[in-house]
Amino acid sequence: MTNSQLTPGIVPGRLGAEDYARNFSDIAPRLDAHEARVAADRCYFCHDAPCMTACPTSIDIPLFIRQIATGTPEAAAKTIFSQNILGGMCARVCPTETLCEEVCVREVAEGKPVEIGRLQRFATDTLMEKGSHPFHRAAATGKRIAVLGAGPAGLAAAHRLAMKGHDVVVYDPRPKAGGLNEYGIASYKSPGGFAEAEVDWLLKIGGITVQTGKSLGSGLTLDGLKADHDAVVLAIGLAGVNALRAEGEGLGNVLSAVDFIAGLRQEPDKAKLAIGRDVVVIGGGMTAVDAAVQSKLLGAENVTIVYRRGPEKMSASGHEQEHATSVGVRILHNAAPVRVIGNGAAREVEFAYTEDGPGGLKLKDETFLLKADQVMKAIGQTLDGAPEGLKIEGGKIAVTGAGRTSIPGVWAAGDCALGGEDLTVTAVAEGRDAAEDIHASLMG
Ligand SMILES: Cc1cc2nc3c(=O)[nH]c(=O)nc-3n(C[C@H](O)[C@H](O)[C@H](O)COP(=O)(O)OP(=O)(O)OC[C@H]3O[C@@H](n4cnc5c(N)ncnc54)[C@H](O)[C@@H]3O)c2cc1C
Ligand code: SF4
Repeated sequence: MTNSQLTPGIVPGRLGAEDYARNFSDIAPRLDAHEARVAADRCYFCHDAPCMTACPTSIDIPLFIRQIATGTPEAAAKTIFSQNILGGMCARVCPTETLCEEVCVREVAEGKPVEIGRLQRFATDTLMEKGSHPFHRAAATGKRIAVLGAGPAGLAAAHRLAMKGHDVVVYDPRPKAGGLNEYGIASYKSPGGFAEAEVDWLLKIGGITVQTGKSLGSGLTLDGLKADHDAVVLAIGLAGVNALRAEGEGLGNVLSAVDFIAGLRQEPDKAKLAIGRDVVVIGGGMTAVDAAVQSKLLGAENVTIVYRRGPEKMSASGHEQEHATSVGVRILHNAAPVRVIGNGAAREVEFAYTEDGPGGLKLKDETFLLKADQVMKAIGQTLDGAPEGLKIEGGKIAVTGAGRTSIPGVWAAGDCALGGEDLTVTAVAEGRDAAEDIHASLMG
């Protein structure tokens, strides 16, 4: 190894092979059968269980935990998958600390919830590793449905529609299906090619064709798709990124955090990835945390997240913020970038302190500089490529009911649709519900 954490500039191989292997291994390895039984035994199997209400996909949590407790994890998995076909990924990536586990009566009483996420992973992994698919298609209906986007929302919609007997074509511009499961989620949450394996497993239902390299706007039009299909689902996520609106934004090595993460996810040999000695990440959400943590895990010496408001306003959960600081990421609050400084490429960023008052966010006169070989923008994603003529509200596709857009025969689900948090589990719930609504309207 010739490079180290102290090597100036942006270089690969800052760490040893063992460090990379450890840093990018499974952050919460699967429970074994004994651990799962012990964890399941802590559940009170509550009537009107609050955990179930807090789950956006309404999984019957007490039922699946009881099925684990009685030694039938495959039945537990079927309970999960009947509500959430991406229950395997959600078990890995759901912020359970702000959803089901936050309201678990064990958490409320003792400050230690039943480990619902890890139990879900135990059950879903057990069934998926058998390779078989737990559901069958209904008799063919002869209806054809186009789904734009092969992320969690599109895949959940496609699976539910296929199960009802419809034929589904999923279009996506990327070379692989999976959306942000494949290109966004932090590597250590979903190692070992799980996202790809999950898509293969999901498609075993049959009746779904995935066409990659095809997107709405380049080659496909909404009118064309509507003419050839009985319904269209828009599940195109948020493909655009907000601009910093700071001087010097166009300098080299000022990049989108989402692009950085996508590149990292697709590179199996992390030692090949070049990372700066000093990395500055601007933003306050999950993307900022994931970019910063993974920069640190690639061997950057100094990684700083800078967020323009206080910690309580960050959309990354307290748990995620703690995770970032635990690996050595520094989080600075109440500061906003005013200038990226450098000669061709970024070298420093100038920040102004901010004041968040009733009149909004104000920049103070006092500023400070941070060294930066790389500046990562993680200040939110935006809707890009939505077809013309569609009602847009608050920067997203306006929907009523279960994802009905302003154009008859066209539904929207997931991050691109208005409402709900931008989470994998919410995208799955919205995709599934749009599919149920399409089925009801086509067959009613
Ligand atoms: C870095 C990062 C980390 C995250 N971590 C977590 C996490 O740990 N836990 C969590 O719950 N959530 C997390 N999220 C949020 C979560 O990934 C999203 O909420 C979820 O993926 C949304 O699913 P979706 O199907 O709506 O969109 P996406 O997953 O974005 O999928 C949209 C798909 O549409 C395709 N597409 C785009 N434009 C077109 C077009 N014109 N025509 C056809 N197809 C198109 C894209 O290629 C993509 O495959 C994270 C997000 C990011 C950015
Ligand atoms: S709230 Fe907690 S104890 Fe009650 S059913 Fe849910 S997981 Fe079990």
